[in-house]
Amino acid sequence: MSTRKKNILKVIILGDSGVGKTSLMHRYVNDKYSQQYKATIGADFLTKEVNIDSDKVATMQVWDTAGQERFQSLGVAFYRGADCCVLVYDVTNTKSFQSIKSWRDEFLVHANVSSPETFPFVLLGNKIDADDSKKVVSNKDAQDLAASLGNIPLFFTSAKTAINVDTAFQEIARSALQQN
Ligand code: GDP
Ligand code: MG
Repeated sequence: MSTRKKNILKVIILGDSGVGKTSLMHRYVNDKYSQQYKATIGADFLTKEVNIDSDKVATMQVWDTAGQERFQSLGVAFYRGADCCVLVYDVTNTKSFQSIKSWRDEFLVHANVSSPETFPFVLLGNKIDADDSKKVVSNKDAQDLAASLGNIPLFFTSAKTAINVDTAFQEIARSALQQN
């Protein structure tokens, strides 16, 4: 029942500057973490092979911004043909959580997807390794938001310690495949 149109899964990561988008991508693709990623990290995307069945692989392209998210000026090429959109906030930053809806809207305006109602989004609350005293977004609020956005999957991650990163990207790959 292979009805996929292509074996490249395009995943884009959106969220306020500083939430950990670049760190999550590097943790997932290279299993590395560094305190400081330059805004000019280079390539538009990184790729990773993902297993579909025991005998099949697909290539996941993970598209990250090079800091332009501050100006919400991501070109059409960034959004075009996306199979899944990952929305990231920082559990220690209320404003980044409040921005999630507008990142989703931004995506839907630019990506020109055929059915916005069913397009796969995944929500990540990153920096879950932080001290409890610094966590300002409650899990309940995050769950409510995920529910209000159409019961989208929600994961609490840490690019720093790798908590839940593989699990989250497995779900991201799964939903990208369904879309594809
Ligand atoms: P981006 O602007 O969304 O791409 O965010 P970056 O990946 O550049 O990360 C911004 C800052 O947050 C950097 O100093 C990272 O080291 C830090 N950071 C990223 N992910 C985590 C995390 O899971 N936990 C903690 N404690 N810090 C993180
Ligand atoms: Mg970045």
